[in-house]
Amino acid sequence: MEYYQIAIDGPSGSGKSTLAKGVASRLGILYLDTGAMYRACGLKAIKTKIDTKDADQVEKMMQDIKIDITHENGEQHVWLDGEDVSKEIRMPGVSVAASDVSAIPCVREAMVNLQRKISEGKNVVLDGRDIGSKVFPNAKYKFFLVADAEERARRRLLELQEKGVTDTSFEDVLKDIKYRDHQDTTRASSPLVKVEDAIEIDTTSISIEGTLDALLSHIQE
Ligand code: C5P
Repeated sequence: MEYYQIAIDGPSGSGKSTLAKGVASRLGILYLDTGAMYRACGLKAIKTKIDTKDADQVEKMMQDIKIDITHENGEQHVWLDGEDVSKEIRMPGVSVAASDVSAIPCVREAMVNLQRKISEGKNVVLDGRDIGSKVFPNAKYKFFLVADAEERARRRLLELQEKGVTDTSFEDVLKDIKYRDHQDTTRASSPLVKVEDAIEIDTTSISIEGTLDALLSHIQE
């Protein structure tokens, strides 16, 4: 039996995870949030107090890191060195650390290998920055989501508030998004790019439900 992958790439707040979850649930396939893995690496760097931009220190840290992904009732859990860090990785501060360490090649190599391993023998929808370009260049469907930075910051702020984080302002979130946009698109190793065969969807002014239908209609065509 041949398995397929659906790649959903795009910057932070473009709606990737909501859409990927929707696609997975409608098609009954696995959803893999790859950003969560880089967040776990960023969190480890914070916990061990290393400089997230120092490649030597990060390389050393990666020698004994253990990241596991499990799924319970359709929810992904991320385990860092035996501890469930699924909530902790969403906290402010971890995003920037994740973006910093994800620019370091040894981190990318380890996470890409893990993503391919988890996807083996399954139909899967993955969201990230390099799914269509690097992890699964032969993915059956590739989507690239975009949206205005201000709109993405509004969504992200709402998400944080829903999680009980109330000490972050719109300006802080926008700054974080712009920092990551710049770093993720300009890094040498697997930068965020729209590959030629990806379908681009601008989610700035359309609802997630509308976007989900658009994605599914491309898939069902
Ligand atoms: O998707 P999310 O915002 O959770 O990702 C956190 C960070 O992880 C991103 O800013 C990006 O630097 C990195 N990332 C990546 N490649 C992926 C997924 C995420 O470099 N496939």
